[in-house]
Amino acid sequence: MNYIVLDLEWNQAAYKTDEEIDIPFEIIEIGAVKLNRKAEILDSFQELIRPQVYPFLLRRTKQLTGWTDRDLDERGIYFEDAIEKFLKWCGRDYVFCVWGGSDLTQLERNMSYYNIRVPWKYPLKYLDVQKLFALEMREGKTRRPLEAVVEHYGIPADRPFHHALDDATYTAKIFQKLDRAEYESYYSVDYYRLPKNRFEEVTFHFKTYSKFVSRKFNLKEEVIRDLRVRELRCRICGRKLHREVNWFTDGHSYFALGTCREHGKMRGRIRIRMTENQEGYFAIRTIKNCNSEEEKKILDKQDNLRARRRERRQRGKGTEEKE
Ligand SMILES: [Zn+2]
Repeated sequence: MNYIVLDLEWNQAAYKTDEEIDIPFEIIEIGAVKLNRKAEILDSFQELIRPQVYPFLLRRTKQLTGWTDRDLDERGIYFEDAIEKFLKWCGRDYVFCVWGGSDLTQLERNMSYYNIRVPWKYPLKYLDVQKLFALEMREGKTRRPLEAVVEHYGIPADRPFHHALDDATYTAKIFQKLDRAEYESYYSVDYYRLPKNRFEEVTFHFKTYSKFVSRKFNLKEEVIRDLRVRELRCRICGRKLHREVNWFTDGHSYFALGTCREHGKMRGRIRIRMTENQEGYFAIRTIKNCNSEEEKKILDKQDNLRARRRERRQRGKGTEEKE
């Protein structure tokens, strides 16, 4: 198995009204580096793409990437040809590594715009090197820019940034520095394609939590009513948790608490998100162990919501009486 470290550059419409809804970001460059299992560099890939949707580069894109309309016109090939070459170059067995979360979504979106069959099976798992770096530094949700991490490791910044192949090379060099044995289990999942039906729905097991991704629903209310979405099972043994607090919402997420006889107290959280094409909704449910402090946080949250509801009811009654 190899690693394909991928980076893309893209262009977009000058005005929102000119935007093609199915392809808001048009890929103009694909850069990638192939690494073996030991993260040694084997090969690289670079291709410029002649735009077909937004024919002129935005000034911002020109400044960022250094490419001109002329470059893309003279040296670029069509996306369909570029992607065919790229997929062939990737080989058979590989895992994508990217910097941040959006490149694979944009790649799949561009492919679907041109009706190109996506060869990856659902779910598309990948490694987000920016996230792995944050894990290694124990920085939680902090995300540092590529330039800063290159500097952090003392990697010579001898190539310009924001060229797809250069950024992919920097990302590969950072990836080489990471403790991969430790973090390979923290892969990410691309949400561009969701499970087609409930048989494709899967639960991912990570070191400290489990994550379930639902299929698409048309209505938001349908999502939370679904029994599979509401399921509360031990993240370790999979047995049903003894429910202590049933799902309730604070307006952003849903929370629940339960206990496994063997593995202790766990908290569930459901986030409902809009699909990438904004045509429906899906749920991401995580379950992780929780200590008494975290348990108290959830109980307090529920108490506060109840108190606020009670207050609202009473205020409602008060005005009724006055009338
Ligand atoms: Zn258990």
